[in-house]
Amino acid sequence: MKAARFDYLKPETLDQALRELARGDLNSRLVAGSQSLGPMLNLRLVRPDRLIDVSGLADLRTVKAEGGQLRIGAGVTHAEIEDGRHPALRDHPWRRIAGTIAYRSVRNRGTIGGSLAHADPAADWLLAAWAAEAQIEIVRSTGTRIVPVHQFMLAAYTTVLEPDEMVAAVLLPESLGYAPWGYYKVCRKIGDFAEASCAVAIDPVRGVCRVAVGALDGPPVLLEGLSAELLDDIDRSGPNWAERVARHVSLSLPDMDAIGHRRLIATVMRAVDRAFEREVVGA
Ligand SMILES: Cc1cc2nc3c(=O)[nH]c(=O)nc-3n(C[C@H](O)[C@H](O)[C@H](O)COP(=O)(O)OP(=O)(O)OC[C@H]3O[C@@H](n4cnc5c(N)ncnc54)[C@H](O)[C@@H]3O)c2cc1C
Repeated sequence: MKAARFDYLKPETLDQALRELARGDLNSRLVAGSQSLGPMLNLRLVRPDRLIDVSGLADLRTVKAEGGQLRIGAGVTHAEIEDGRHPALRDHPWRRIAGTIAYRSVRNRGTIGGSLAHADPAADWLLAAWAAEAQIEIVRSTGTRIVPVHQFMLAAYTTVLEPDEMVAAVLLPESLGYAPWGYYKVCRKIGDFAEASCAVAIDPVRGVCRVAVGALDGPPVLLEGLSAELLDDIDRSGPNWAERVARHVSLSLPDMDAIGHRRLIATVMRAVDRAFEREVVGA
């Protein structure tokens, strides 16, 4: 099947894009890398009157570190993060996470903002943002609002974005760029979406540890008890380490089936190992 007919607009400025998005007379849809939207158009799961292509907007493509925050523009591609093309990302642990997303051809076009807005429960940026306690900068023609990522995603493929709003950037604490990260996901084959995933961020500067799990039915879930224990650098060599992880997974996800539960325990243990060994990723 091919996409239904639509008009196409490629604005030159963010202001123009936001003005056009705010027009109530057209059912417009933003397109960035088209890696998720393209298949949806072809399957006619969405039938917008018009696509507004934001992939060329310079305002969405910057990465800046200032005031203790790292601001990654929504239009920055997975490949640009993977390659550390922006100085503020050169030594950042998210480079390794970017490298696990799909295949290089998808990473060349797919953007961090498109991934967050799409809100696929198995998406890697969503989970990394959850562990980072990231904030999402949202713009519309009349102003800007900042929303914590755990309030941004409401359910699978559902966010708080209004029809006239777009993601402008993701904001995370700058100190996380030097912090131990662990990331592990279970995929059937390289390039597939995760069937289980876990991100661990340990930030000694702020005294914060967050262990988040993804690839669930809805938004990622924070394993609060385990996050608190890891701050004390608990002994992972003891025989009851797996049992403790299992208990925390059960407490946070009591309705998970036995296979999913076992898979997630192994995923969390591997992600935590990677954080302590400073290896960052594994799959
Ligand atoms: C074969 C394949 C494998 C993949 N594997 C993975 C994987 O392992 N892990 C993973 O995380 N992802 C994976 N993806 C998804 C990929 O990361 C996409 O790039 C991403 O989900 C969407 O980014 P995009 O820029 O292409 O957005 P688009 O496809 O252009 O848009 C997606 C949605 O976001 C909206 N949108 C786009 N930009 C904005 C914005 N700035 N503000 C508000 N709304 C916006 C669009 O209207 C649309 O609804 C895979 C995709 C493919 C095709």
